[in-house]
Formats: sequence, C-alpha cells, structure tokens
Amino acid sequence: MLPIVCLDAGHGGKDPGAVGNGLLEKDITLDIALRLKEKLSEFNMILTRTKDEYVPLSERAAIANEAKVALFISLHINASANDKANGFEVFHHPNSVSGGLLASLVHKAVLPVSSLKDRGVKANGGLYVLRTTNAPSILVELGFVSNEDDASLLKADKWKDKVVEAMASGIKNYCKERGLSK
Ligand SMILES: [Zn+2]
Repeated sequence: MLPIVCLDAGHGGKDPGAVGNGLLEKDITLDIALRLKEKLSEFNMILTRTKDEYVPLSERAAIANEAKVALFISLHINASANDKANGFEVFHHPNSVSGGLLASLVHKAVLPVSSLKDRGVKANGGLYVLRTTNAPSILVELGFVSNEDDASLLKADKWKDKVVEAMASGIKNYCKERGLSK
C-alpha cells in the first residue's frame, strides 16, 4: 500500500490565523495544501480540511492518527507585531528523529527557491499537532503576512507553484530515505 501523507492547512472558518497586508493565513494555507496535494499524486493523500471550515487541533491530530498516516505536514504562515520580521522556518518535535529529518529535507528543498530569509529548522515540544500526531510531523511557517516583502511573494501564483514543487521534492526525498517509496 502507498504511504499516506496528511496535509494540514492551518486555521480555517471562524479562525483566520494571521492577518496582514490584505492576506488571511487560512486562505494561503488551504491554497498551498491543495497545490501540494496535486504534486504528491503518487501517495495516498489526506487533508485535514479541503475548504474554508473550522477544524479544532484535536480533530486534526485524530484524523491523522486514525488514518495511520506515514507523515503529517502542517502548513502555516507567520505574523508579527514587528513588520520587519520575516522568513521561513520549519518545526519538528524534539523527540522525533524522523520528524527532524523530514524538517531538514523540506527546509533544504524550499529555502533556495523561496526568496525568504532563513529562520532555520527548529525543535519545539510545545506545538500541539507535533505533540499529538503519531507520525513523523513538521510544521512549516512559510513567510510572514505582516511583512510587506513576504506578503508580496505570498500573493504570487508563480511563487506558490515554485515553493510547492520544492516542498513536494523535500517530502519525496524523505520518503526515499525512509524506504517509503521508490
Ligand atoms: Zn498558523
């Protein structure tokens, strides 16, 4: 059986997530998730949401755990009160070696095509979906809606395509390394 990859578009419905420069985090995360699903057609894909709806964090983890997914990718966009804060970072749980590998392979693939500042790969034990999903999981923060330069990238279809393509290749590299695909 093909490995199941779970994409988790952050926020949704009554929870817009980060807001700035005319952008809502919930719209971008869903857009990225739907594009990424197309690029990973050789896997069984599940999404924690496929439209603009509110899905509690506990339900997101439950969806992944019940489906026994092989990996879990949570997609987010950052914001800060400081409009100069910008860049791209990938979080994993400190206790997950596979999560760490997945985080570094996705970071390595995306960073060079992203035009975003490198905020690095970070272990974080406090993020709910990373703590509660059984599968190796990462949480991606792809730029800041509150920063003008990041926001203009986040508005560009071409940029989204490029970044999603790179994200897919990072995920595929992980699957190869872990023997989950050819
Ligand atoms: Zn978020």
